[in-house]
Amino acid sequence: MTKLLEIDNLSIEFATPSGPVEVVNGVSLDIEPGQTLGLVGESGSGKSVTSLSVLRLLPNNLARVAEGDIRLNGESLLGMSEKQMQNVRGNRISIIFQEPMTALNPVFKIGRQVREAVRQHNKMSGRAAQKKTIELLSEVGIPSPEQVVNVYPHQLSGGMRQRVMIAMAMASNPEVLIADEPTTALDVTIQAQILDLMRKLQKERGTAIILITHDLGVVAELCDRVCIMYAGQIVEQGDVKTLFKEPKHPYTAGLLKSMPQFTGKENQLQAISGQVPHPADYAEGCQFAGRCSSRMEMCDTVEPESYDFGNGHRCKCHLYKEGAE
Ligand code: SF4
Ligand code: MG
Repeated sequence: MTKLLEIDNLSIEFATPSGPVEVVNGVSLDIEPGQTLGLVGESGSGKSVTSLSVLRLLPNNLARVAEGDIRLNGESLLGMSEKQMQNVRGNRISIIFQEPMTALNPVFKIGRQVREAVRQHNKMSGRAAQKKTIELLSEVGIPSPEQVVNVYPHQLSGGMRQRVMIAMAMASNPEVLIADEPTTALDVTIQAQILDLMRKLQKERGTAIILITHDLGVVAELCDRVCIMYAGQIVEQGDVKTLFKEPKHPYTAGLLKSMPQFTGKENQLQAISGQVPHPADYAEGCQFAGRCSSRMEMCDTVEPESYDFGNGHRCKCHLYKEGAE
């Protein structure tokens, strides 16, 4: 079966004054129609870079795809002309970001901005676009959409602005929605409402969602599958239930241990000590070696292979090499 979206062995280099630095290394993942895939990692792990590369939104003078491919329904996005890419960005893959204030134009009223998104995708009269705008705003749970079209972004709460962004992203009825930390800037109750909304839209429209987050609680709520990223690589991936129950990678296990809702032991909150290395300092062996309590000698010098545990559960760690201990 052709995958809807497929990232195949992707490596991305950034230009720096001291030469190219690889910020994403050998990332492979795929998503089927209607699925939700979580892409989890600390900041600097490469998850946003990976998602921006799908839309080819990384600046050409800074970033270069060094290896690999990205395919939508089997067709390479990297091989497309800029014009074809505009069509993909406008109609087939949408993206929403963490802080909707930066994505909305502060000087235009909400109605105008949503209407523009609507008309970008469908040829229709101004009146029809206005009607569609109000329908979309109501679909994303904005109360009194007839009034909201006449206000400016700063007059709305963060949660309402994120709903507006979702309405704009859904205007084209995309096949894939990439949501980059969509609830991080919001308080907990509003977060839950936005996640509910995404779940509802997905159910109604069958949109595939790539949810970028550092929050495993959000993944547990919303995702079918999850990829755990660390230092530019996917270190483990699998379906959410299996991975939460039987994490294979020491990093995944550490992330889960740091979450009281999964250990059930309020007092044992245990953060993983140390920090994600800077891309310029990526090691020869396992990138997690500096923070790993299971580290072995070979971990410092030999890059671990990816081991397959069946059902799409894969993990990149020497612990699973035959004979390793
Ligand atoms: Fe730890 Fe070694 Fe596995 Fe890396 S390869 S996670 S250092 S045990
Ligand atoms: Mg990010």
